Amino acid sequence: MTTTDQRLAELHSQVPEISPTEAARRMASGALMLDVREADELAAGSPRGALHVPRSFLELRIEEKAPDRDQALLLLCEVGIRSLFAAASLQQLGYREVYSVAGGYSAWKAAGLPCASPPSRLDPEDRRRYARQILLPEIGEAGQQKLGSARLLLIGAGGLGSPAALYLAAAGVGTLGIVDDDSVELGNLHRQVLHSQERLGIKKTESARHALYGLNPSVRVVSHETRLTSSNVESIFQGYDLVVDGSDNFPTRYLASDACLKLGLPHVYGAVERYSGQIGVFWPAAPDGRGPCYRCLFPEPPPPELAPSCAEAGVLGVVPGIIGVAQATEALKLILGIGRPLIGRLLLYDALGGSWRELAITPDPACRYCREGADFPGYIDYEAYCRGT
Ligand SMILES: [Zn+2]
Repeated sequence: MTTTDQRLAELHSQVPEISPTEAARRMASGALMLDVREADELAAGSPRGALHVPRSFLELRIEEKAPDRDQALLLLCEVGIRSLFAAASLQQLGYREVYSVAGGYSAWKAAGLPCASPPSRLDPEDRRRYARQILLPEIGEAGQQKLGSARLLLIGAGGLGSPAALYLAAAGVGTLGIVDDDSVELGNLHRQVLHSQERLGIKKTESARHALYGLNPSVRVVSHETRLTSSNVESIFQGYDLVVDGSDNFPTRYLASDACLKLGLPHVYGAVERYSGQIGVFWPAAPDGRGPCYRCLFPEPPPPELAPSCAEAGVLGVVPGIIGVAQATEALKLILGIGRPLIGRLLLYDALGGSWRELAITPDPACRYCREGADFPGYIDYEAYCRGT
């Protein structure tokens, strides 16, 4: 049993838990519900009548919100874990009647109890900019705000990263990190449409920032002008919610895959060659069921002598365009929680045949990286295969 498990067991015995239905009943008879989630978690709404006090400010603000130590308090978070910690903390401050709402806001919503939409944080210009997107009932203003709070990391501002970055910025994804250490070359421009003739020779992260701000100045573009290595991958990935992988080489792709697995982030994978491309989402930590990781499909990179030579392999410029936009689509679906993500499904695109095929991929029970109870084997810097495509 880990220390966290022990602490949770203690909290479960120390803090009384009640169901959302019971919480709603007690609110009706005067109990005060405190929603302790952080501000960026409220985009999907909050129980009607709940007071929002972020967990990080709870101890500082509780006396102002509930001066009476006998006031019945119902603590609620997203799934009912942080509310246990919060409730225990209030018990220590002398509050005598504190409950944690089991299952949190997820259970509240699932029980069909009344919810209130958060006050809109979209300004009039945002409403005009995203009007056609907000009109979609699955998105609405709440979804648009979710996009605005999202932090997405894009690996590579090249063939896949270019279309992905343009559409993600246009859609209003709030923070776009970009990892790339290359400069813009003439031979990039037939497919890397984020860049331009006039920005030849400058760093791709800089060129990307210029193009994306030109398209949507409210997006925050964070440049990571470096190449991913085993020593920097984790510190770069931390702080992002998902990773769109537009890398063009095996060493980077395996690092990205391994770091996503270790940090529990969705890995939106894409690859192209000649007239074909593929795309899938690897996310063993997905909340609604275990999906495979990239290594379940490709346990190790091929030996360098068998890997395709990137410098010599051609590619029709539109193919990374199509796959990159499909990656952006998967990223938007994951952020918004809509549709059926490509988890456990690999789509193969054949431009000449004009066809898509779908392959089902199941988690490999023997996968060294994602199998049940596996210890993370560590990062590997594979020998560089090829650069700069
Ligand atoms: Zn795996």
